Amino acid sequence: MINLVKEKNPMPEQDPMVRNKNFKEVSTGYTADMAINEAMRCLQCRKKPCTGGCPVRVRIPEFIARIAAGEFEEAYQVISTTSSLPAICGRVCPQENQCEGRCVQGLKGEPVAIGRLERFAADWHREHGSGEAAAQADSNGRKVAVVGSGPAGLACAGDLIAKGYGVTVYESLHKEGGVLAYGIPEFRLPKDIVSSEVSALKDRGVCFINNAVVGMSMTVDELFEDGFEAVFVGTGAGLPQFMNIPGENLLGVYSANEYLTRINLMKAYKPEYDTPIQISRKVAVIGGGNVAMDAARCAKRMGAEEVHIVYRRSMEEIPARQEEIHHAIEEGIHFQLLTNPVAIRGTEKGYVCGLECVEMELGEPDASGRRRPVEKKDSNFVLEVDAVIMAIGTRLNKLILETTENLSANSRGGIGAEEETGATSCPGVFAGGDAVTGAATVILAMGAGKNAADSIDRYLEKRV
Ligand SMILES: Cc1cc2nc3c(=O)[nH]c(=O)nc-3n(C[C@H](O)[C@H](O)[C@H](O)COP(=O)(O)OP(=O)(O)OC[C@H]3O[C@@H](n4cnc5c(N)ncnc54)[C@H](O)[C@@H]3O)c2cc1C
Ligand code: SF4
Repeated sequence: MINLVKEKNPMPEQDPMVRNKNFKEVSTGYTADMAINEAMRCLQCRKKPCTGGCPVRVRIPEFIARIAAGEFEEAYQVISTTSSLPAICGRVCPQENQCEGRCVQGLKGEPVAIGRLERFAADWHREHGSGEAAAQADSNGRKVAVVGSGPAGLACAGDLIAKGYGVTVYESLHKEGGVLAYGIPEFRLPKDIVSSEVSALKDRGVCFINNAVVGMSMTVDELFEDGFEAVFVGTGAGLPQFMNIPGENLLGVYSANEYLTRINLMKAYKPEYDTPIQISRKVAVIGGGNVAMDAARCAKRMGAEEVHIVYRRSMEEIPARQEEIHHAIEEGIHFQLLTNPVAIRGTEKGYVCGLECVEMELGEPDASGRRRPVEKKDSNFVLEVDAVIMAIGTRLNKLILETTENLSANSRGGIGAEEETGATSCPGVFAGGDAVTGAATVILAMGAGKNAADSIDRYLEKRV
């Protein structure tokens, strides 16, 4: 029987004024009854527009039907035929622009809560599943190297091991997961979930070599000399950008990546860890994307009394997910909109003491289609802060491009690769994820990793 309620079942969450002082997960997840009730909102459309909106083509109506029938493990099994990271995607995918954005229920009310149901099925499996490894092909004796253990690398490794290849993942950091481990905070994506997905790959035979910077410890060409027959490059786009304004070298200025890495990966929020990080009273975060929201909400949880998001356009243009903005506002983050920093002010000892800004107004649309922010004359003012976090985007680190013979870049400065196959200008080298597209999303990175696994398989079969 279909549930005719127009709104999604609300997600149980920690109280905002409690959660803004701890790093525990904000949303606690549907109960079994809530999940069944929500699953019964699905119309089981024959044309499945929701699945068309998913970059890895999760069989959405099928897994939802299993949840509606109370068959939760079966629901997980349906999802895992196409996605290797459902507990992660269920939490952080921008569903509003993908599957849920196309859901027929969304035409007259709220779409089916596909992401929350995906998370429910994955969490159910983690807590109640048999723990058995997925079936895979016998070893074919051929080796493929994956560079980078973010969602692109993990998805590629998972699909290759399932096809019988020996897979070794090289990761420059001491921990696997890429942005999932060092960027997205614990309160949105608990790290034990990332670890359990990585452990599942290890159980299936994927070998991880950490603290190995390809392009420095060894080159891509040397990987071929070591017997790897193909290499997938999924190195992300983790190089921070700054504004080039005066004062960016002061103590208390961070890139969002560095700030989040110290908190997430180096566990700065745990008293038993000696992670060096400045404890700040008033913090300005520059930018309006998900990264800015994460940095601001982390600063609040680290004890800052006041945290400001400083963004040069208005709330209508802000790029972060609506859910993250809503959570940030609930947690007491201030939004300093139509505001642009022009200088960071410091004390005699070199510590940040203020952020000089100008007010902005919106002019005609620019190349991105968004209205161009224009500075208001003589509108300078100073925001009193003791830390400034730059979250204005990241770029690709060029190490692999510079150390791999004949590897070409694309017009965005990333690695040049075909969208459908991940093939690059070098035979046997494939690339995907943020390293190719620039900063994007987890599910697009996974889709690229999976496409590359398929084309690596086709490429190596031809070379037999
Ligand atoms: C703070 C933050 C929040 C985000 N929130 C969301 C969200 O809510 N939803 C969403 O969908 N997306 C979000 N994103 C974007 C998303 O995380 C990325 O698009 C995605 O992780 C890209 O995956 P990837 O595998 O291409 O790269 P990454 O996740 O960046 O992984 C690349 C890996 O390669 C390693 N590496 C780099 N160079 C080398 C080398 N030379 N040798 C060996 N290893 C190397 C890096 O250490 C890293 O582990 C967020 C990003 C950030 C920074
Ligand atoms: S579009 Fe929405 S209602 Fe239709 S099958 Fe997909 S989830 Fe169900």
